[in-house]
Amino acid sequence: DTAMYKAKELSGGNCQFYEQGMDVRTLDSVRLENDLYKALENNEFVLYFQPQMDVRTKQIFGVEALIRWNHPVRGMVPPLDFIGIAEETGLIVPIGEWVIKTACTQLKHWRDLGYSIKMSVNIAAQQFKQRDLISVVSCALEETGVPADLLELELTENAIIQNTDMTINMMKQLKSLGVKIAIDDFGTGYSSLGYLKNFPIDTLKIDQTFVRDVTGDSNNAAITDTIITLAQNLKLDVIAEGVETEEQIEFLLSKDCHYMQGYHFSRPLTAADLQKQYFIMQS
Ligand code: C2E
Ligand code: MG
Ligand code: MG
Ligand code: MG
Repeated sequence: DTAMYKAKELSGGNCQFYEQGMDVRTLDSVRLENDLYKALENNEFVLYFQPQMDVRTKQIFGVEALIRWNHPVRGMVPPLDFIGIAEETGLIVPIGEWVIKTACTQLKHWRDLGYSIKMSVNIAAQQFKQRDLISVVSCALEETGVPADLLELELTENAIIQNTDMTINMMKQLKSLGVKIAIDDFGTGYSSLGYLKNFPIDTLKIDQTFVRDVTGDSNNAAITDTIITLAQNLKLDVIAEGVETEEQIEFLLSKDCHYMQGYHFSRPLTAADLQKQYFIMQS
C-alpha cells in the first residue's frame, strides 16, 4: 500500500500502522502528496486571474495569477492546501515553472487580442533559491515575446531574508531581465526593513490581514497608513489586497493608495471569464 509505505518513509523508518486515533490529516496529506506527483503530467493545474484595479481611473491594470488544482476526486483544491506540500517535496519547482510559462502564454494571448496588462506571478521561497529561475523566466519571456516589464514576480519577505548575497544576486539578475518585483503580504514576515534599501523592489503589497480591519481597528489603520507612506517615500508602487468594502476603499484613497485588489472588485476568475468581464471582445 503506497500510503502505508509513505507513512513509513515519513516516520523515518519506524513503521507506523493505521490504528484508531491516527492523525487523519497526516494520512490525508500523504495521499495528497502522492496525487501531487501526478498532477502536472495529468494536466490538473489551472490558473485563475484576479484583477488589479486602479481605482482612480477605474481601469484594470493587471492580474494576479493564482493556481488551483483540479483534483479528479476532490474537485478544486485551493493553493493553501497543497503549496506547503509542494514546497516540502520540491514539487514547487516544476509546478512553479508551469505557472510562469502558463501565465506568460496567457499574457501573450491577451496582448494578441489588444489587451496589454501586467501579470503578477507568485514565487515560492524554495523556487527563489533555484539558480535556474533566471533561465525559466527568460525562456518564458522569449518564447512568448511578452515584454519583461509586464511580468511581476511576487516574493514574500520570508523568501528573501535567507542568504542575503545570493538573494541580492538573484534579484539583480531578475531585474536585468526587466521583470518587476513585488513584496507580497508585506509586513507579515520576519525580516527587517533594511532589505528595502538594498533590493531592487518595485511594489509593496499590503497584506489583507491589515486591510481587512482597516476601518474597525486603529492598529491596522496605523500599519496600513505607515506601509503606504513608506512606499511613497521609497518611490515604490503600493497595492492593497483583500479589499472587500467601500469603507476600505475610502480609507485607502484618503491615504493616496489607489491600486487595489480584492473581492469587492472581483474574485479570481478563469481566463475566459476575465476576458468576458473585462475585455470588450471584437467579434
Ligand atoms: P496571495 O499571493 O497573497 O494571494 C491572495 C489570496 O487572497 C488569494 O487566495 C486570493 O484569492 C485571496 N483574496 C483576494 N482578494 C480577497 C478578498 O477580498 N478577501 C479574501 N478573503 N481573500 C481574497 P488563493 O488564490 O487561495 O491563494 C492563497 C495563497 O496561495 C496566495 O496568497 C499565494 O501565497 C499562494 N499561491 C497562489 N497561487 C500560487 C502560485 O502559483 N505559486 C505559489 N508559489 N503560490 C501561490
Ligand atoms: Mg500574491
Ligand atoms: Mg498576498
Ligand atoms: Mg497571502
